[in-house]
Amino acid sequence: MSLKRKQAVVTGSNSGIGLGIARALAGAGADVVINSFTDSQEDHDLAKEIGAAFGVTARYIRADMSKPDDCRALIEAAGGCDILVNNAGIQHVARIEEFPAEKWDAIIAINMSSAFHTTAAALPGMYAAGWGRVINVASAHGLTASPYKSAYVAAKHGVVGLTKTTALEAAGKGVTCNAICPGYVLTPIVEAQIPDQMKTHDMDRETVIKEVMLARQPSGEFATVEQVGGTAVFLASDAADQITGTTISVDGGWTAL
Ligand code: NAD
Repeated sequence: MSLKRKQAVVTGSNSGIGLGIARALAGAGADVVINSFTDSQEDHDLAKEIGAAFGVTARYIRADMSKPDDCRALIEAAGGCDILVNNAGIQHVARIEEFPAEKWDAIIAINMSSAFHTTAAALPGMYAAGWGRVINVASAHGLTASPYKSAYVAAKHGVVGLTKTTALEAAGKGVTCNAICPGYVLTPIVEAQIPDQMKTHDMDRETVIKEVMLARQPSGEFATVEQVGGTAVFLASDAADQITGTTISVDGGWTAL
């Protein structure tokens, strides 16, 4: 599953699942572009650390995935890419009638529309090369719903639809597009929603983890960023040449229920 001489751009990759995917792709030999909207010294140090650890070229490029121009500029600044991982995402938990409109807009922009803009910018180079991989990080919430996550569920279902359409348009050109649908992974995005879930469900932290989160995963365990990263390496590899337009769940059985 060597990805040597491939360049990967992973959006939203200075933390959590995106960082796990970037590390896994670098571990398989790919050069990687790390992205976030922050542009801190830690972001640049992280890229250096990944480059040194895996003997690949690793760069940090700032781009705000809520902005269409930034999405396209990221691909341009990277000089195109062989593997595009659309991972950037945010979350907000609230009842529909109390859901702030600006949070809805931000979640749709970052979690869904950014994938459209980066993909549109990356596809011409992939078509010219006759090889490419678009991997969208959707969610179990792209296949099922949960109360209080209207924008997130809508955005992730949209990402699954975009994945299928991209796959059909790219078919026969050496380019595949698939979505990874993780269940719960204990990353900062999940940590940040626990207080809201405690409030909305009127539960303590342990009960939220047990009864709201892990109760949905028959394995009874969180998935890990390494497991999602390994799935991305597989989808990027030639072994997955004929896999396109589909979703792969890394959810401990959630969507089998
Ligand atoms: P995280 O908060 O650790 O990571 C989110 C990443 O997105 C960070 O790198 C952050 O810098 C980046 N980001 C946020 N806003 C951005 C913006 N405007 N521009 C550029 N980058 C931005 O959370 P995570 O759990 O690693 O989430 C990563 C992806 O995985 C998201 O799309 C999320 O929806 C998805 N996901 C997570 C889980 C889970 O349980 N953690 C489950 C299913 C899907």
